[in-house]
Amino acid sequence: MDNHQPTIAIIGGGVAGATTALYLGQLGLHCTLFEQEPSLISGPPFCHLHAGGNLYREISDTQCVTLLKQSIDFLRYYPFIIDYRPTVIAVPTTDSGSPEALLPRLQLLVSEYEALIAKDSRNKVLGDPQDYYKCYTKEAMEALRDKECLAHPQSLDEWMVPVAKEVDLEKVKFPLIIVQEYGLNLFRLASGVSMALEQIGNVTLHLQTHVTSIAYQNNRWHIGYEKAKKRYETVCDYLINAAGFRTGSIDNMVGVKEKRMVEFKAAYVSRWQEGKTHLFPEIIFHGERGTPQGMGQFTPYPGGHFQLHGMTEEITLYPNGLVASTPLSAQPKLDASFIRKIEQQWEWSEVDTRTKRAIRHIAQYMPDFQSAVTASKPLFGAQQIPGDDPTLRVAEVAFPANNYARCEIVKVSSALDMVDAIAKELAKGGWIDGNTIHSRDHHIIETLAETDIASKAEQIAASRGYPASMAGLNVTKY
Ligand SMILES: Cc1cc2nc3c(=O)[nH]c(=O)nc-3n(C[C@H](O)[C@H](O)[C@H](O)COP(=O)(O)OP(=O)(O)OC[C@H]3O[C@@H](n4cnc5c(N)ncnc54)[C@H](O)[C@@H]3O)c2cc1C
Repeated sequence: MDNHQPTIAIIGGGVAGATTALYLGQLGLHCTLFEQEPSLISGPPFCHLHAGGNLYREISDTQCVTLLKQSIDFLRYYPFIIDYRPTVIAVPTTDSGSPEALLPRLQLLVSEYEALIAKDSRNKVLGDPQDYYKCYTKEAMEALRDKECLAHPQSLDEWMVPVAKEVDLEKVKFPLIIVQEYGLNLFRLASGVSMALEQIGNVTLHLQTHVTSIAYQNNRWHIGYEKAKKRYETVCDYLINAAGFRTGSIDNMVGVKEKRMVEFKAAYVSRWQEGKTHLFPEIIFHGERGTPQGMGQFTPYPGGHFQLHGMTEEITLYPNGLVASTPLSAQPKLDASFIRKIEQQWEWSEVDTRTKRAIRHIAQYMPDFQSAVTASKPLFGAQQIPGDDPTLRVAEVAFPANNYARCEIVKVSSALDMVDAIAKELAKGGWIDGNTIHSRDHHIIETLAETDIASKAEQIAASRGYPASMAGLNVTKY
């Protein structure tokens, strides 16, 4: 390589692209980040840190262990995005599975968590390993029913009180399990990562900028883009494709082929009036994906707002919502109705119908929740899944052409392993000194005030049409 400073172009300002810009920018590399939307992290949503993968009974232990490690890394890198609340796993009586079947994996996760702490005590971010999960019998839940719901629960028992009061204990199998899988706040990530990138002089951020063409000539990438209806071209040494569900369209421009899938999904935002404004844990009602009894996910936010997933085609999933690439195109083709939702807007009647179905889905197990109402448009989007296994949950990055990295994360916590792999590849190619790859300490994020992050996050939530309280900070560490 000649002795000019290498330049990096990153296409896509979602979690993958923005984290890459932040990490490589802090290594001193000159990065240009292209994002077609007006702000960063505006792709598909996320609300759950999969610190152990306990939402997915169908995935391997290996994927769960990787999700645990990646989630701990992610929490340490972006501590301000965590909504500190545990998750309750409930197996409905109508489900063929049993809660006991989940226990061997939980025990494995405890020992993996202990090993991570033994390696580095700063990994102890999910509390004491012995409290990673706890089981509750029916009798224990009945005993908690008469206790008061607290504004700031501190112990697992205190978190279980609203569950004991609201969940119909005849509709679930025992034990109920509570586990230290926390919430992830996408609005605070959008806010904090934008504030951090603004402070790095060697990162250029082009918002509302659409990359339209790519050509590799004389060992350099020529990138055509459109901004404010004008066309430009720039040249860089290394290209990073972090275009989310449009990764395939960038692969097509680069001229590489790859198998992948794209799935459109939506989660619905409801408000529970009736004074249910105290804190809840997240609650998962297991169920077989794609059937009418698909998993229900009840995700609490401040202000009585609850985000709901129902893994049925009537709620979160869609008929034809999962599409695959073809030998002719690396970009799977989503039906125009999904693209309309992503690029324009939803019909309010569909928002209301699907949100009401989601409320009914959860109310099967929490009868009083039937009184909840639609609060806003859904959180929705299409996500990429590399390869042809739709249950894959851990995926990172591939290097299918010279000086080209293609990011394809399925869970946001994979972003740091992804960018570590890119940094190693850059070091291998002589682009950076391997010894300078930072240890993720001394992070610019540490200089940002959480209150500033939170107030910008509230503005972002409101500007996107969501309740500002969904970005709020009043979910405290316990
Ligand atoms: C309903 C739903 C719920 C989810 N819940 C969770 C969860 O709880 N936890 C979790 O970990 N994950 C969750 N996910 C998955 C998670 O949202 C994705 O894995 C993650 O957001 C992907 O990030 P990304 O940066 O790869 O892609 P994206 O966020 O899609 O970013 C890609 C960006 O590239 C931009 N772009 C594309 N093409 C161009 C171009 N030509 N020029 C300029 N810009 C371009 C796009 O505008 C976009 O902003 C969920 C997904 C869905 C759909």
